[in-house]
This record gives sequence, structure tokens and C-alpha cells, in this order.
Amino acid sequence: MGLCKDTAMILSTRTFGESDKIVRFFSLNEGRLTGIAKGGKKSQKRFTNTLEPFNCVRIEFFEKATASMVRIENADIEESNSGLEVDLKKVCIASFFSEFVDRMTREKERNEALFETLRTVVLQTKRVELNYSDILYYELQMLDHLGYLPNFVRCVHCGIELAEGERLGFSKEKGGIVCLACSRFIPHRRYPQGFIPQLASYSPDKGRTTEAFERMGRDILEDFVSFHLDVRLKSYRLLKKVAG
Ligand SMILES: [Zn+2]
Repeated sequence: MGLCKDTAMILSTRTFGESDKIVRFFSLNEGRLTGIAKGGKKSQKRFTNTLEPFNCVRIEFFEKATASMVRIENADIEESNSGLEVDLKKVCIASFFSEFVDRMTREKERNEALFETLRTVVLQTKRVELNYSDILYYELQMLDHLGYLPNFVRCVHCGIELAEGERLGFSKEKGGIVCLACSRFIPHRRYPQGFIPQLASYSPDKGRTTEAFERMGRDILEDFVSFHLDVRLKSYRLLKKVAG
């Protein structure tokens, strides 16, 4: 196995024993890993401010086939979280996306696009004031990279492609929109005309959306994610309170 060099986003950390640190990180080449940094808490020299949540680091670690954790040897800052940690809303947003990646991925499952999205969203969180539509946008991007994007184009039951004006009903159970005919027997929620196409095509450069849009977008994704993925994120409730 030997020494691996990689780029990683730090997801979370906790102290272990006297002076060690357990670090969960998502790396560009190897996906999600857990590592132990020996003396990471005390050693000012090796890990000062590097192994902290939301940092992007160049990391070196030893991997052993028999061990569940890698041993972190070195870490250098590539992009620091500095400035993010003083703002509660920013911390909540970064925590939400870090936990999202942590819970939605399997260990050692490489996902370059997901890594880049996490890196971007953390950087953007630091630099600008993200609104809830932006959060929804990045969440959809991540679902897409994970292969879980809801179907916003075709009826999930009969497969017919719907015109934008007909994209009204959403079934969380089926994971996408339903046509008028299928909506008679498939449980779904109905949304105002134009909302689903707007959600599917929203991007941060499109600017501010309405509060109603943000609320409906949140409902649709919350329903969908919790129904399909059986993932309850601790950070999500806090995020809703702070950024909602
Ligand atoms: Zn149908």
C-alpha cells in the first residue's frame, strides 16, 4: 500500500486519547476515508490549523490493507476555512454539505465530480452569502454526481417526456415527476406551474428567487432525500433554522 499523496476536504475531526486526532476526509482520488493523526492535537509543528473541518489540504497518509483507518503523516493547507468559522450561517452550510458527502458516500469510493462540488460549495460559502436557492442548487449537483438526481423531465411511471408546463406533480416515492394520467393513481404533490422547471434549471448566477420558491424547493428535496436515502442529517435542522 505505502504512502499516498492526495488532495482532500476535511469533513470532521475529533480528538482521540491524549493527543491524537481522528479525521474524516473526502479525497480526490480515494473518496471518503478516516485517518488518525498521531499527536495531531499537541504537535504544533505538523498539523497546526491544517486538520480542521472545511479545509482543503494536500494530505499524505499510509494505508494498510488490514487497518480500517489510514495513518495521516502530513497535511498542508491548499485552501483554508479561515473566515468561515466566525459566521454561524456559513458554518451551518459547510457542515451540511460535509455531512451530506460523508453520509451519502461509501468508503474509498472515488467521485471526482462530487469532490469538486464540495470544494466549490465550501469556497463559495466562505466568499459570498449563499441563499437557500444556491444551497438547493449545490444539493442537486451532488445528487446528480451520486446518481440520485430526481427525474424532472419524464414521468417516472410511464416514461413520457412532459412539456415544461405539464411538470406539476412530484412523487417522492418514485423520485420524479408524474404525468396527468399517472397522477390519478400515484401519490404525489402538486406544485405551481413553472416551479419544477425553475428548480431543475436554477443556478446561482440566476440571482435571487422568491421565498415561496425556496420553501417549495426545500420541501421537495427534503421529502425526496429522506424517503429514498434513509439519511437523516444532524446538520440539516440547524441549517434550516439559520438559513431558512
Ligand atoms: Zn405517466
